[in-house]
Amino acid sequence: MRRKLVVGNWKMNGTREALKEIDAIESATREWDDVDVALALPATLIASAASLGLRMLIGVGDIHAADSGAYTGSVSAAMVSDVGGRFTLVGHSERRGEQRETNADVKAKAEAAYRHGLQAIICVGEAFEARVNGKAESVVAAQLSSSLPSTAAGDWLAIAYEPIWAIGTGHTPHLDEIAEMHGMLRESLRDQIGQEAEYVRLLYGGSVRSDNAAEVMGVAGVDGVLVGAASLDPTKFVEIVRAAR
Ligand code: PEP
Repeated sequence: MRRKLVVGNWKMNGTREALKEIDAIESATREWDDVDVALALPATLIASAASLGLRMLIGVGDIHAADSGAYTGSVSAAMVSDVGGRFTLVGHSERRGEQRETNADVKAKAEAAYRHGLQAIICVGEAFEARVNGKAESVVAAQLSSSLPSTAAGDWLAIAYEPIWAIGTGHTPHLDEIAEMHGMLRESLRDQIGQEAEYVRLLYGGSVRSDNAAEVMGVAGVDGVLVGAASLDPTKFVEIVRAAR
């Protein structure tokens, strides 16, 4: 009932030269209509990528919560939507950390995405300290409940569980830890949004590579992956999409 979703997160990487890599990913995956593919790009690439008429969804790594105004350097959901963007990440740990974004900020950004017809992927995840102290589930549950908009529904929202200590480190949780966390997230969603929880996709992110993607996506309750470094290499990213099929 929930089709697998594979999302690449390019972060602050890529100039127009990279459009040929987007094209290579699209050519390899275009006919694979049993899996959804998405790329979160720097805002500067959205218009050119969207004009390629891709099957895969093109989006951004972050938006501002306001629609417009005196927010120098920021980009709004309305602007992303205007140039053909279809989704945004919100609450990535690099934003929560470097920019000190709170759960309330993340919720406001997800609501802004909804107002402008963008899908949103809310990122949650614990620090290493919380994991070793046995607090991972309570930290992540609190993030989810405080950042989930009341309009949350499977046709516009996904959740990515990304342990901070797994991002860009080569370390991943044990598969049973991923299963437990995803089970907890599904239960929390049921408590908060009822039946609609069954349609919200739960992704795992953090050091997913072409050689571990299949086992991660084989874990019960994992509906796809959010991929950082490996998404910058079209060959590796296509292998990860293949593993979702
Ligand atoms: C990310 O930053 O969302 C991510 C999952 O990065 P990586 O795959 O490089 O760990």
